[in-house]
Parts: sequence; C-alpha cells; structure tokens
Amino acid sequence: MKELQVGLIGCGAIGRDHAQRIQNKLQRAKIVAVTDVIKESAQKVAQLCGCKVAETAEDIIADPKIDAVVVTAWDPAHKELVLECIKHKKFVFCEKPLATEAKGAKEIIKAEMEGGQRLVQVGFMRRYDKGYRQMKELIDAGEIGAPLLVHSAHRNVASGQGVTEDFMITQTCIHEIDLTKWLIQDDYDSVRCIVGRTSKEAPEGLRDPQMVMIRTKSGICIDIEVFLNARFGYDIQCQVVGENGTVNLPDPSYPPIRKEAFKGTSLCMDWSVRFIEAYDVELQEWIDNTLEGITSGPNSWDGYIAALTADLLIQSRDEGGTEIKLNTPERPVFYA
Ligand code: NAP
Repeated sequence: MKELQVGLIGCGAIGRDHAQRIQNKLQRAKIVAVTDVIKESAQKVAQLCGCKVAETAEDIIADPKIDAVVVTAWDPAHKELVLECIKHKKFVFCEKPLATEAKGAKEIIKAEMEGGQRLVQVGFMRRYDKGYRQMKELIDAGEIGAPLLVHSAHRNVASGQGVTEDFMITQTCIHEIDLTKWLIQDDYDSVRCIVGRTSKEAPEGLRDPQMVMIRTKSGICIDIEVFLNARFGYDIQCQVVGENGTVNLPDPSYPPIRKEAFKGTSLCMDWSVRFIEAYDVELQEWIDNTLEGITSGPNSWDGYIAALTADLLIQSRDEGGTEIKLNTPERPVFYA
C-alpha cells in the first residue's frame, strides 16, 4: 500500500506533536524531512521521528520525493509557504490561520484557482472533535429547532510569549469564527468586538478578555468570549439555543472527586490534550484524502472567510466596538 511521504515545516509545539502523531500513531504516512528556522528545534523533531533535517522550507516543498507538506510554522509564515506549495502542486495541510489577513488568504485562493486544483486544507480541527460533531448532528436533525443564539467561550490558562491583541482574534478566536459558521451553516452579516475591564493576570498591553459579537444573515446572534489568562484551566464552551431547546458542547469527562467538603471534577489545563482525538482524526482524513488525490476538509475559502471576519473584528475593536457589515462574497463553485 502506498505511503504518503510528508515534509513538515515549523518544529514548535504543534509541529512536534503533529510530526510524532504522523510518525507513530497514524496510518499510511511517514515524516521524511522537517525544518525550522531554529535548527536545534528541527534536529530534536528529526531525532524523535528518525527523519532528516532539510536546510530550508523551500528544500522540502521542491523535493520531488515529498508528496505533501504540513505547515506548522508561526502564523506570519503561512501565506508564503502555502503559495510555494501551490506553485509546486503539492498538497498542503496548513495550521490555522491560513493567513494573518484576508488579503493574504485571497492571494492563496487566486493561486489555487489558477492552478486548477484544490490542494490546501486548513487546520480548523474543531470540526473533527466528537463533541462538536454530536452537536452538529442534533442541530441538523432539527432536535432543538431553528438556532437563535450561540454562546461560546475560549479560555486559555495563560497567553504565550509575544501574544498581541490581534493574535487573540486571528489565532485564538479564529477557531470559533470557523467552527460556529460550520455548526449553524449560516453566513455572517455583521461583527463587533468590544473590550471592557482587563484581568490583572493579563500581561502589560494586552486587553484581556475580549468579547466578539456576530450576527448571521438569518439573524442568529453569536457571542464569543476570548480570555487568554483565565488561569483556572483550558475551558472551551459552546451552547446553541434553538426555538425548542439548547445543546451544549460536552466537557471532557474526568472522574468526580469528593473530598474535604468538595464535590467536582478536574479541568483540562492543556489544549493539546483537550483536542487530541480531533487532531488524530483530522490528520488521518487528510492523509487518506491526499493519497487519493483529493481534499475534503476546511479549504482555502474557509480560511479566507475566517480571515475576513477576523480583519473586521480587529477594525471594530480598534474603532471602539462599532458594528461592521461583512458582505460575505459568494463561495466560488471551485470551493463548493
Ligand atoms: P511555536 O511553538 O512558536 O512554533 C512555531 C515554529 O515555527 C517555531 O519554532 C518557529 O521558529 C518556526 N518557524 C517560523 N517560521 C518558519 C519558517 N519560515 N520555516 C520554518 N520554521 C519556521 O508555535 P506553535 O504553538 O507550535 O504554533 C505553530 C502554528 O500552529 C501556529 O500557526 C498556530 O496558530 C498553530 N496552532 C494550531 C493549533 C490548533 O489547535 N489547531 C494549536 C496550536 C498552534 P521561530 O520561533 O524562530 O519563529
């Protein structure tokens, strides 16, 4: 059976996880080369995977022995790396966001359409999470009636080094921006982002939390709390309120503990553990599809619409929370 030969660019936290996942856990693919601008990071991952270190990202993308590329470099590098993959007609799995701004994502769409083949999958892995998939099945089956409201929260334990207010939207909230649209199958019509009181736990210069509000074309109202320094745990919440009922994202299950006048369960502290199964399903599907020469997951158009929404949310926040119309462009047949 054919095995997909994969090159990976970016050996940070998620690059290391994805490389080991592909090498040790998933089927029908092998990591053959990795690279990183920090050579020691690449060497560490190469050692873990028993593969070679490529000098540059371009060496990986242009290598005829490499069938497909995983991009796990930092966000601002995504656009150029994906464009290079398209130029070489390589299938590419790119971690979210596809690009840090909509205009970068638009360049990718143009290049991909001109090349005449869909090659890009964006790492919106929430769509592969069992809990979100169960929610979607119930909503699609009409179990709660027509959706009216969506309440979501994205709470991280601590903001990483160098996180900016824009990253809170383009890197963190981008998950909910894509996921919610997929969940309720409705285009966004207008967006707002407001900031209020900042947590004393937030680093200097970061207004945290931020509140995102979106109205869809059919009038569904969505609120998303983005809170990076919640300290108590990595806590992802989502509730859809319908005409006849509500459906909630199930919390990961931990054994209930009773002790010292306390009853409760632990909270997950680590994003890479919280969604570990979703990453596995996501990448296995990508491998299987790529071996068949097709793409089926979140595509460049999804990445573009998410980036467009993020751009306007940042604009709204910087204008003091004004409501901004989205005017979502029509999805081309190429990305149907
Ligand atoms: P990280 O630990 O900072 O890793 C990024 C790595 O890529 C760094 O080692 C970085 O080196 C390297 N890099 C940057 N530009 C490069 C280039 N042109 N060629 C090769 N290597 C390059 O960050 P991370 O947490 O792993 O995140 C990486 C990406 O994954 C981000 O885009 C993030 O949004 C995404 N991510 C997705 C999820 C998810 O749930 N789907 C979760 C976490 C992260 P320098 O430090 O020198 O820049």
